[in-house]
Amino acid sequence: MQKIKIFKIYDDHHPLLRKTLKPVSLPVSKEIKETLFQMVEYLKASQDEKFHESHPSIRPGVGLSANQIGIDKRFFAIYFKDGEEEIKFALVNPRIIKNSLRKCALSSGEGCLSVKQDHKGLVYRYSKITLRGYDCFLEQEIDIEAEGYLSIVLQHELDHLNGKIYYDHIDKMDPNHQIPNSYLI
Ligand SMILES: [Zn+2]
Repeated sequence: MQKIKIFKIYDDHHPLLRKTLKPVSLPVSKEIKETLFQMVEYLKASQDEKFHESHPSIRPGVGLSANQIGIDKRFFAIYFKDGEEEIKFALVNPRIIKNSLRKCALSSGEGCLSVKQDHKGLVYRYSKITLRGYDCFLEQEIDIEAEGYLSIVLQHELDHLNGKIYYDHIDKMDPNHQIPNSYLI
């Protein structure tokens, strides 16, 4: 395994986690591309059992946004495995161009590398989105048509770029209430 860059993860008390981040100017710099690739490798390693044994303080994650590592720029990385398939993105200036009316939520709730204490409750997100952004792996602007889990993960990360954190969406009075036209996964 190549050497993994161990990022210092900013927590939700840091003002950068509450800021609307600045757009990345194009073309994307070599520095940002390199950072995004390192972020993907970090996420991949964080899910690896052996890596986890030798780095017990690093929590497993599937997404990481620029402000979580102290950068005020609109980009984030995603990595997880869907069966044998690797789902990975290194996205710059992402935005939703289409969304369903239907919503979905993870039945177990969401978590975040920047949030130490779990906040229980349902976080409803569009069940289907089309997200447009520049992908540094493919080196072009792409449209991602996402549904279910991937749609949730992309919206969680996009929220970070707008200074939002998953627990902002939890209904404090009734954290597990089911809303109309929605489903749980
Ligand atoms: Zn997060």
